[in-house]
Amino acid sequence: MKKIIKALTFDAKHDGWDKSKGFVMRKVPMPVLDEKKNSSDATSVILKIRYAGVCGSDRGLWYRTAFRDLIHGSLQKEKKDRRIVGHEFVGEIVQAGSMVKSLYYDTDPHNKAKIEVGALVSGDSHVTCGRCFQCRIGEQNVCINEAILGITIDGIFAEYVKIPAKNLWVVDESRLRPEIAAIYDPFGNAVHACTKVDFRGQRVAIFGCGPIGLFSILLARHFGATKAIAVDINKENLNMAKKLGAHEIILIPKIKKDHDWESDKSVIDQIMKLTYGKGVDISMEMAGAFSSVNNSIDATRRGGSVIFFGLKDGDLTIPKFSRVIVRGLTMYNIIGREIFHTWQIAQRILNDKSNGIQDAIWNVILKKGKGTIFPFKNFTPAKFEKAMNQNPKIIFKING
Ligand SMILES: [Zn+2]
Ligand SMILES: [Zn+2]
Repeated sequence: MKKIIKALTFDAKHDGWDKSKGFVMRKVPMPVLDEKKNSSDATSVILKIRYAGVCGSDRGLWYRTAFRDLIHGSLQKEKKDRRIVGHEFVGEIVQAGSMVKSLYYDTDPHNKAKIEVGALVSGDSHVTCGRCFQCRIGEQNVCINEAILGITIDGIFAEYVKIPAKNLWVVDESRLRPEIAAIYDPFGNAVHACTKVDFRGQRVAIFGCGPIGLFSILLARHFGATKAIAVDINKENLNMAKKLGAHEIILIPKIKKDHDWESDKSVIDQIMKLTYGKGVDISMEMAGAFSSVNNSIDATRRGGSVIFFGLKDGDLTIPKFSRVIVRGLTMYNIIGREIFHTWQIAQRILNDKSNGIQDAIWNVILKKGKGTIFPFKNFTPAKFEKAMNQNPKIIFKING
């Protein structure tokens, strides 16, 4: 195997956070399993990465708008300067630690999805501890010691990576495009959000039509919502939302500079009209903007549900919070995916081609691969940045 590989990195010392942007393609050592040096290598594998999804959080790192403290704190802990970024992947297991088979190989002969050398796998980006209270009761998505690939530990924008076998989810290539298997992780966020409450017969507003908001439109309809209203500041995103089955679209007229937490009256008025004065049963906040948080609260009917997913640093004002209580709203917060409950639902929805969801993701969100599949070997910061800004989702083609 190779000794040196290529990886996309951020280097706190050489690049610096404040005066730079983007990632740098660097030569890094080939990851190895050395169980004498690291006992945890016994439960890890080496993956040859095939495709890797570029996430909104990678954009946040690229422009240095998010994760500053997490990256620097974790690098200090590891006593190093360089972080390999990226966390959405599909790849082939090329080597497995000595304990992988005894711990993670399903002995059920009917289950052909085996974690073993040669298997094609995706996996969760949250590396959990397995020891804390939350992990022990099956709530790994809120593990107290969690590490996140590409942020607090080295990630997967690399030709080869080392990763704990417990994070992996086997992919059936005969039923799922590998490009889409690479974005299991964000699709899983949407599945997690859309399985918190019962969508059957409900009117739903989706605030924010980035990839996870767009996945949520597909899923809300799949789970039986009778009206899906997509809200965004970007016309192209709304066109995509419409193509994916949103019944109604609402353009937010302009981004506020002052009073950036205030809800948009024109948006709320339109939603009230579309719901005959009631408000939606379910609001999904998938954007993170402060005004969007208040939009989702104000657009929801009495007794309805508000699902929060979008993230933004800083302090948010929710005017007259008491009305949230008086109106009897129920709030949910979505972090990560339920491991692996969310994954098996995601798998069934994606692999069952009759529901059209896999095709819709490929044809509409990924534009049949036109401009959205970016060859890793052709990476230049300028070319990559352009592709990232022209498409809601792009995917690196790394090996194969
Ligand atoms: Zn992601
Ligand atoms: Zn834990």
